Amino acid sequence: MISALSLGTLAGSDIIIGADYRVVFSSPELQPVAGKLADYIGKVTGNRLSVSGDTDTEKAIVLLTDGGKIPNGFNIAANGNSVFITGSSLSQTVRGVYAFLEKFCGVNCFTSGITVYSLDKIRVPADTDYSYAPYFEYTDTDWLSPKNTEYSLFNGLNGSQYRKIPDEFGGTVDYISGFGHTLTNQFCSKDKYFESHPEYFSLNMGQRKANQLCLSNPEVLEIVTEEVFELLRKKHNPEADLQIVSLTQNDNIFFCRCAKCRAIDKKYGSHAGTMLEFVNAIARKVKEAGYDNVVLDTFAYRYTRAVPHGIVPEDNVCVRLCSIECCFSHTLDDPSCKTNVSFMKDLQGWSEICKRLYIWDYCTNYSNFTGIFPDFGTLQKNMQIFYEHNVKGVYEEGNYTMNTCDTEFGELRAYLISKLYQNPYRDLKADRDAFLGAYYGAGGEYVGEFLDIITENAPKKHLGIYQPMTSTLSLSSKQIAECDKLWEKAEKAAEAQAKINVRNSALSWRYWKMKNRASEFSDPVKYEENKAKLTDDINATGIEKWYESTPMIAFFTSFYQLLFFSLYPVINSIVNLIYRV
Ligand SMILES: [Zn+2]
Ligand SMILES: [Zn+2]
Repeated sequence: MISALSLGTLAGSDIIIGADYRVVFSSPELQPVAGKLADYIGKVTGNRLSVSGDTDTEKAIVLLTDGGKIPNGFNIAANGNSVFITGSSLSQTVRGVYAFLEKFCGVNCFTSGITVYSLDKIRVPADTDYSYAPYFEYTDTDWLSPKNTEYSLFNGLNGSQYRKIPDEFGGTVDYISGFGHTLTNQFCSKDKYFESHPEYFSLNMGQRKANQLCLSNPEVLEIVTEEVFELLRKKHNPEADLQIVSLTQNDNIFFCRCAKCRAIDKKYGSHAGTMLEFVNAIARKVKEAGYDNVVLDTFAYRYTRAVPHGIVPEDNVCVRLCSIECCFSHTLDDPSCKTNVSFMKDLQGWSEICKRLYIWDYCTNYSNFTGIFPDFGTLQKNMQIFYEHNVKGVYEEGNYTMNTCDTEFGELRAYLISKLYQNPYRDLKADRDAFLGAYYGAGGEYVGEFLDIITENAPKKHLGIYQPMTSTLSLSSKQIAECDKLWEKAEKAAEAQAKINVRNSALSWRYWKMKNRASEFSDPVKYEENKAKLTDDINATGIEKWYESTPMIAFFTSFYQLLFFSLYPVINSIVNLIYRV
């Protein structure tokens, strides 16, 4: 058995991967990824290497899976005239192969359509001994390119919501139920039960409604438990690294206020306690039945965000903490940003009691998908904060409707987020600049300067995810003129597809100016004409959705948020007071 790790001696000279090299797979399951590695090496050097299962080969890139030597992650090591890529599992060996392509072969996948080959010779230094363990076990984001399998393999995305990674390439971490809001929809569904059993559903203002479940009803627990087991009988894969069943509240705040639920809420100090008691009960049964690679997921979202007292999640329960109320122009640990201070308290609290804490985070403006969302200054610090609070998985929800045109830096943001998942402490500025060069060509430099201006100015205002364009980014007229110049320069410098990319990204800037009546939109006589031109240009890209909901609904969404999340504790106390009378 060949093993780089058991040999301490290092040969003196660097390894040059020439045409006489082979890619060797040490077990049949590694053959597909060995073939893929040979293909990419062919694209770099012009010589596609042959692939072999003969581990006695000299001059080889050897792929191994050995959980005994590598507890979690992978190692890339040079030894003699061979290179060894060893992973703790198939998925980690696959990651090792893609890391090898990036680090040693100069292959970078910036978008699903842009893979850059920056070297024509592959040199592996003689002293190479590079180890990596993943920072997060689960990573996902939407946007455009992350839906592509090859992009996801290069950039380490492994959630199943937006991509299918074949099992021979390590597969995905699957939510084998729905992804969220499953209670009343998928489990104990309102369609099936509400008419015959309204008492299974939440009581509000004296009425049972199919908004949420009544979690203290033992029959509800029995039904959901049985439905979870039915799902496991159909979809459980014992070979998978991890499978997740989501038991998550519906997307409204009308949780049950029947006497029994209120008593449990009171006992734990938060409705999250009532939810956790319910999910824990099912999790214990799933564990007893031997489903060791299955985790039960629940939300810490809106009214279940506050950490309960006197109860902790079972080891096989994952809590997904959602940052929907947060501000994204200030880092989560910014003591001057009140909404973030309150979130940090909950993040801290959950991290202390939960062994598997995930985050559902946000990175776009849902009332203005095309408008500037200046969160570039907070992405890295926030990812570090998650990691430092024992977070094991992150989903960055962006503009999931993006399917035709990259406006509002969707491709850049997706790339940076993916890279931060791989390592929150990396040189993100270098990643950004590499992306800008690959995507905007010679225009990238000016787009970078524009990003610097909006990033520097972003902290002057708070930045919610439904906020009007007029109250987010604040720029002086001098800065606006400077930004206009930078976009002009970028368009002039870029060529071919890069020029189109510049124009599409500039739509976000024009959209911001339109909403703020700035620059060419400041002249009331020409406003309508310029707005019509911008509208035509946006429509021409095929963008179908400008926002998640109509402006009116977006307005009410903001209002709803303001009302329920600023005044919610007060309203809740009044409601509870009335019902206790
Ligand atoms: Zn109830
Ligand atoms: Zn803020």
